[in-house]
Amino acid sequence: MPRNDARRRELDSLLIQGGTLVCMDEARTVSRGDLLAADGRIVALGAGVPAALAELPGGRATRTYDANGALVLPGFVHAHLHLCQTLFRGFAEQSDLLNWLRDAIWPLEAAHTEVSLAASARLGACELIAGGVTCVNDMGTVHHTDALGSALEASGLRAVFGPALMDQGERVPARLLEGAPRALASALALADRWHGAASGRLRVSLAPRFILSCSERLWRDVTDASRERGLLVHTHLAEAPTEGGEVKAAVGSHAAPYFAKHGVLSPRFVGAHGVWLDEGEVALMKQADAALVHCPGSNLKLGSGLADVRRWRRAGVRCGLGSDGAACNNRLDTFAEMGLAAGLARAKHRDDPLPARDVVALATCDGAEALGLGAEIGSLETGKRADVAVVDISRAHHAPFADRDPYTTLVHAARADDVRLTMVDGRVLYANGRHATLDPERVVADATRESQALLMRMP
Ligand SMILES: [Zn+2]
Repeated sequence: MPRNDARRRELDSLLIQGGTLVCMDEARTVSRGDLLAADGRIVALGAGVPAALAELPGGRATRTYDANGALVLPGFVHAHLHLCQTLFRGFAEQSDLLNWLRDAIWPLEAAHTEVSLAASARLGACELIAGGVTCVNDMGTVHHTDALGSALEASGLRAVFGPALMDQGERVPARLLEGAPRALASALALADRWHGAASGRLRVSLAPRFILSCSERLWRDVTDASRERGLLVHTHLAEAPTEGGEVKAAVGSHAAPYFAKHGVLSPRFVGAHGVWLDEGEVALMKQADAALVHCPGSNLKLGSGLADVRRWRRAGVRCGLGSDGAACNNRLDTFAEMGLAAGLARAKHRDDPLPARDVVALATCDGAEALGLGAEIGSLETGKRADVAVVDISRAHHAPFADRDPYTTLVHAARADDVRLTMVDGRVLYANGRHATLDPERVVADATRESQALLMRMP
């Protein structure tokens, strides 16, 4: 790096002034105050800011942002997503999981090219960034995962991503099936290229799709590789009511005992949905320190059922929150998921609901812990990565008690278009309605064109 660039980077700093800090640290600190970010990290908060500013050249930050009337919080961690499916939004409606996959989603995924996959990822990234999301855990499709990596890199999002691994299954298009050795080898080659890329912003996972599309050999190989390379295993389990019967017929038990038997459950395991996990299975997750991701919007739209995130948390299981892909939600909107998570938990446990504070935790610090990233992101704390969202609470739909409890305001009143600023590693990706890394008009035009071409190619 030329010396001038190095010096400029060294001096880059941003002061977010005048907001209410919702820190999501261990003490759940909420306080009026400023946040100072420099060189990609949070260097000071609240009372510590003046002293930290004094140490900067000229005694001030290179940039400032006015957060009056807003909450300043850690950017949302979106813990289960399929950016490859954003292009399918609105196409396959009114279906249940297995038919939806077999009739529409797998044939559509099989028709993806590098260009359509990149368009799909950019369309999703545009919505996510404008909604305050700073980190995603994405399951790709089987092919073109480098295009996904390039789109994520250019978007500025923090991401864990990996190709979907599938080596068997009923009505899976041939193009999506790969033998276990080949599937794993290409995922590991992808990890060589992308794991730790973009200054550590991008990480690669191993993403066997679900039990019905993966052989025992593939689960075994994935488990060994995850242990050797320290990669997350990102999969689906116990999602739909009809899935359990097919899983039992295929492997002789439900998903969690099967995973436990083959050593798949570990602190690197991230399983989405878990709607049909019974108490014993939740205990298996806890025993292995495996993580679960709650996807209430997708679970409702596909008629999968009502996952009991309250019970998971009480059992001590690490959990995050996700919307799943845009084809089964159809929003990629953390606020919508938080509202559903809170409402469903309330309906299930009327006298002992999930407090709004815990719901915000699912979408921030707990989600980061679920992805093994808790030391770096998920809360506003000195030394952590400067991944921040600023949410306006001065509009009519927040008044008049928006300040009284910021957690209930976030969960029950705020919405994605209240997000004023989204920042990752101290880099502003979105501010005051404008994207810095994406051109929304072009993104929508590309997505529209590519979705039409994709339908023509569908097998
Ligand atoms: Zn999914």
